[in-house]
Amino acid sequence: MANLRISGLAARPGPSLLSVPPLLRFLPLSIPPQLTLSQRINRRKKAKPPTDPNKPPSKRSHSSTRDPSSPSSSSSTPRGPKRRGAYTDETKKRNTALTRILKSCIRCRMNRGRCNPDESDPYGPCLTCKSITGPTLCKMPCYRYIITDASLYREQRAPYQVYSRRWQSMDIIDIPKNDWASPEIRWITVSPNHIRLPFRFPVRKFTPVEGDLLEEQWMTPHGKKTVPVPPYALADMHATAADMKEYVERIISDFILSTVGNEDLLLWETYTKAFRHIGSAKTPEERSLLGNTFRLWVICRLISNPVHICGEDKLGGQAIESEDSLHNGKVPMPMIMTAQFECINYTTFLRPWSKAVLKQLNELVLAKRRDYWLTIYYAMFVLLHSCAMMTRRDEETARQYDMKTRYANPESIRAHHTGAQTMLAHFHFINKGVIPFSLPHNVAGRQELAKAANLTDEQVNFVWRTATLAHDPERVARMRYVRERGLVGHDLYWVSMLYDKEWAPQSND
Ligand SMILES: [Zn+2]
Ligand SMILES: [Zn+2]
Repeated sequence: MANLRISGLAARPGPSLLSVPPLLRFLPLSIPPQLTLSQRINRRKKAKPPTDPNKPPSKRSHSSTRDPSSPSSSSSTPRGPKRRGAYTDETKKRNTALTRILKSCIRCRMNRGRCNPDESDPYGPCLTCKSITGPTLCKMPCYRYIITDASLYREQRAPYQVYSRRWQSMDIIDIPKNDWASPEIRWITVSPNHIRLPFRFPVRKFTPVEGDLLEEQWMTPHGKKTVPVPPYALADMHATAADMKEYVERIISDFILSTVGNEDLLLWETYTKAFRHIGSAKTPEERSLLGNTFRLWVICRLISNPVHICGEDKLGGQAIESEDSLHNGKVPMPMIMTAQFECINYTTFLRPWSKAVLKQLNELVLAKRRDYWLTIYYAMFVLLHSCAMMTRRDEETARQYDMKTRYANPESIRAHHTGAQTMLAHFHFINKGVIPFSLPHNVAGRQELAKAANLTDEQVNFVWRTATLAHDPERVARMRYVRERGLVGHDLYWVSMLYDKEWAPQSND
């Protein structure tokens, strides 16, 4: 983690240009069919039972699957499928299938107990939640979200096919030898449009095939406009992927600056503290989680911003002079390279890092250690805000291309939203008993807070400061406005739910 720069976060720059190359219509194959999120349950089907190594082993009847304080756990009133009377084979089969489909709820997972669905109301709360919550069910209802299933970015099956149809998956496959038009290797330098962060890589001229897009297109009030782009592509995708890994490490702090440096103080202050926590968190697990969270976050920003050629060699490309183009005054990077970078980004970074973040986050949450609270909060804050930004870009893309739907990638975005709710459900579960952002700002409150999450004085100050910002009437009004109107892509939409005293899942679009 030492190579993550944590300097350079002192100044707040101008606003960032939020724009994205059109990544339309590609519905992920890896995301399970989207199912409606009811108040109580998130139903997701899987063909096979999960083999998640983090999942606590199912303990059968010998372990206490209910709160011992619950009267119904007494042996004189046995419950559960085995004592319910005669079963037909059909019922047994159905029950097994049900357990597989439903998965454990958060409470049973956290308590490492078996989660038994109520047969008479299989999609309602599980027997454990029913037996211990009673009339105060709303305090922490039965949610069947699983952290390691969450989607932390907008998944896609393959690169945007309008750029090229050469890639039918995100596998990193170079252009075939016979398709190169010249042996000459040239080096170009590109940068995101809104912030100068140069990245250099080798390219080569290729012979186009049908489906390769060789012009940059944009919409104007007078219709579509185009300029030709030179037929060059990444010469070596694997080598460029390796260089990009180093590039990502270098640019995180600059991206934080350009993304939230001029935004709401709640965002700016939390990001800077979270980023510094990479170096100051006590355990390697926490440092690793936060490092990977920011790496993932920066890739999400990179795939959401247009890129231009900023070096001397422009490959013969011409600058676009049009206020309507995201590239006004700049030479766009050829689209076939965007397709190649999508393969690199998804395969090398997004998928493995997302998996790592979810695994680490799941471990910290299931560990139920108060020391982890702040780290979990930081990670979730950054991931939730990232979800809002992804959503916003996807909505802008849908508008930019005059699509009739709210989102350009509705399925992926909905899965991403379910992922956000998974984060929130777990955060509120681990907050149960102590509400860190609502404790009084006095000596007793300070002591309770410090003890509840094992915080230093400085960390308590940060949580208090956060509480002050989160409860500031003007900000509260803004948060309410954003949520009442369902402005899911607003900076505050998801993060505001971290401060809810009684959080409940939102309907998922
Ligand atoms: Zn349960
Ligand atoms: Zn439950």
